[in-house]
Amino acid sequence: MQSSQTKILHNHTFNFYIRNCNKQHTKNQNKSAYQLTKKIVFKIPDGRPASLASTPPNLRYKGDMGKSNVGFPYSNDRFPNEGPVNFIVAAVSFDDLSGAPSKVDDYLDEQTAKISEWADFWSQGQMQYEFQVVDGWQELDFSSSLYSAKDVSRGERTVSAHVGLADAIAAKVGNKADWAVADGLFVLFPVGYDGFTGDWNSRGDVVQTPSGPKSMFFWGGGEYHLTGAGGIPLATKQEYLWSYWIHEILHSQGSNLHAPGNGWAVGLGQNQYPSYGGKFSGAFNAWEAFKTGWIFDDQVFCLDGREDFSEARASLTPMEIYGGDTKMVVIRTAEHEGIVVTSRRPIGYSEDWSTSDSGITVYRLDLSVMNDRTGEGNVDCGNSIDFAKWAYYLPADGSSGLRNACRFEDFIIKPGQSVSYGGVDVQLVSRGSKDFVEISNTASLNAVTSRNSFAKDSHQLIGAYITNSRRASDNQHCNCCGCTPID
Ligand SMILES: [Zn+2]
Repeated sequence: MQSSQTKILHNHTFNFYIRNCNKQHTKNQNKSAYQLTKKIVFKIPDGRPASLASTPPNLRYKGDMGKSNVGFPYSNDRFPNEGPVNFIVAAVSFDDLSGAPSKVDDYLDEQTAKISEWADFWSQGQMQYEFQVVDGWQELDFSSSLYSAKDVSRGERTVSAHVGLADAIAAKVGNKADWAVADGLFVLFPVGYDGFTGDWNSRGDVVQTPSGPKSMFFWGGGEYHLTGAGGIPLATKQEYLWSYWIHEILHSQGSNLHAPGNGWAVGLGQNQYPSYGGKFSGAFNAWEAFKTGWIFDDQVFCLDGREDFSEARASLTPMEIYGGDTKMVVIRTAEHEGIVVTSRRPIGYSEDWSTSDSGITVYRLDLSVMNDRTGEGNVDCGNSIDFAKWAYYLPADGSSGLRNACRFEDFIIKPGQSVSYGGVDVQLVSRGSKDFVEISNTASLNAVTSRNSFAKDSHQLIGAYITNSRRASDNQHCNCCGCTPID
């Protein structure tokens, strides 16, 4: 923990100082989140129109618009963001479709252990994902086709089919699990199960449980996750079941995910499965980890880019290393906009990366918009500014040809490289066990540097997005993303 006072260290050229960005905030303080937010510039507020911010979850295209805040304050979703959340896990087969894989208990124990371990790591010990794994396959006494749906979006779900199957599973599991303490239900269906084109799911439908009617989160793979759809082998999807399930839990904890770099191998919010070249990262994006409270306020180095500031240096602990004094830099650039800088390494949750994938990433926040995923899997390869997103990766100054990039590697900033955006210049000075970054003003406050091709105001996209928010007709699955089609 840093003290709240500015800490002056000296090096060869610059004063190196660490800013505690949250002098006011302690966990026990008796002030509302709103009051605190007004005082803390780096907690950039959500800027969506009230009509969108208040739209109940899951009513719009792909469940994105109207979900939880993209900016501050953190808005509560189904699950809390600290303490335990409990899930019943059951393998469920049908009278015409037997259970596979065969050693299902070992498999589910292994996968759920990874999920619990992940939560401990990324929440820095604040969150516990707990599981009640029901032994063996639970065979339902009806056909796998009795309940089915070809839903194309969350807002148009065939609720009766989803809930009907959930009721049957709850009755079958019965008292082999404690339904009173369960917050949710995950189901593993047999390989080849295709009852639901999208995922069998709910973020709050009422299920008839042995403990009585209960509003439940429930989730089980559909066609996409139970086959080699999207060019990702089934064996890979089975190995990374933990990543897919975490992704869905995070959505019900208020995280919107799918940016920056949707579909890229930068984190399980963007892609639950290894993509091109086998690369994968199980990371959680820093902005939403911060918003959730999993990155602590005093681990954030903050600057107000709307004001002139002295050259500043920060020392970043890589996201893949547990804890650390400073995990991210947040530079406020406008009322609802900012820049986030984090350090990344090809270790731990990103161990599948190449050794050269080491340095900082810089992304800009636009907290006035929601993700527009209509181009997902086809014309938007994850970072295109032609589709609204709450965050976009910024490449190094002088880069070209990255307007609709499909890969993250060119967005890992190396020592000596800079990223300029919104009058702020971020340079990676040196790379070691930590990354040392230098931040400076580059322009007057109202000027946007032309050096970076991504320096385009996305506000003009908002109106178009609202008008055009719909499912792209050819967007049947995520060719470039490996993302769940519906969520
Ligand atoms: Zn999702």
